[in-house]
Amino acid sequence: MARRKKIYEGKAKTLYEGPEPGTIVQYFKDDATAFNAEKHDVIEGKGVLNNILSEFFMQGLGQIGVPTHFLKRLNMREQLVRSCEIIPLEVIVRNYAAGSICKRLGLEEGTQLPRPIVEYCYKDDALGDPLVTEEHIAAFGWASQQDMDDILSLALRVNDFMSGVMLAVGIKLVDFKIEIGRIYDGDFQRLVVADEISPDSCRLWDLKTGQKLDKDVFRRDLGSLTDAYTEVARRLGVMPNNPPAPGKPTLVN
Ligand code: UDP
Repeated sequence: MARRKKIYEGKAKTLYEGPEPGTIVQYFKDDATAFNAEKHDVIEGKGVLNNILSEFFMQGLGQIGVPTHFLKRLNMREQLVRSCEIIPLEVIVRNYAAGSICKRLGLEEGTQLPRPIVEYCYKDDALGDPLVTEEHIAAFGWASQQDMDDILSLALRVNDFMSGVMLAVGIKLVDFKIEIGRIYDGDFQRLVVADEISPDSCRLWDLKTGQKLDKDVFRRDLGSLTDAYTEVARRLGVMPNNPPAPGKPTLVN
């Protein structure tokens, strides 16, 4: 069998050329990294859980009319997505203070923010993904004003969707990061939610106990990362190969 062509290998995923032009296969690895890859570990089963969770969120977004790059899940570790040009920004939406905003603004972790706050970081590992303003984005031409209007609207729609889905299973969406891709249709371009949405890129706290169910478990050595991600998948009724727990909300296809 012909060996497929690797396009890119990142920290948590590898991208391969897809079966048709304009498609890409995203392979979810078990690698976990934090603090700009200073901390690294291989956590068995993480890739499978993120593949299934990202499918669940991307499909749900598609169902409410938010465009994404997701086409279909191929197997336990791979999904087929539309190839797009990634805008070099990490788009972060915050509902409660956690992580870098606490240090930057002296906020106590868990403080509810007056409204969702959207931040942009320039995607550059060597620079540690620095926070940038719309001035930098416009001046360096990373995105146009129209793109920025569309990105803000996409980010807030993703936030509303994700907050609601999580709330329904007793989880607080503290913050998350998304990446945005451009897809060209002839002379036209449109923006889609790309990359992945998973507990690797969100902060998720149990509503009652405050227990962390996201990558902070790995960042701060708080226990088993797979147990935390499995709990998220179980509550959402998307456990690999398992029927949903009785009485829990289920995925409607
Ligand atoms: N995030 C991410 N990738 C990054 C940086 C941040 O997925 O390279 C997510 C992170 O998991 C959190 C949100 O974006 O859900 C906000 O992260 P923050 O700026 O607080 O940075 P951190 O403290 O996680 O380094």
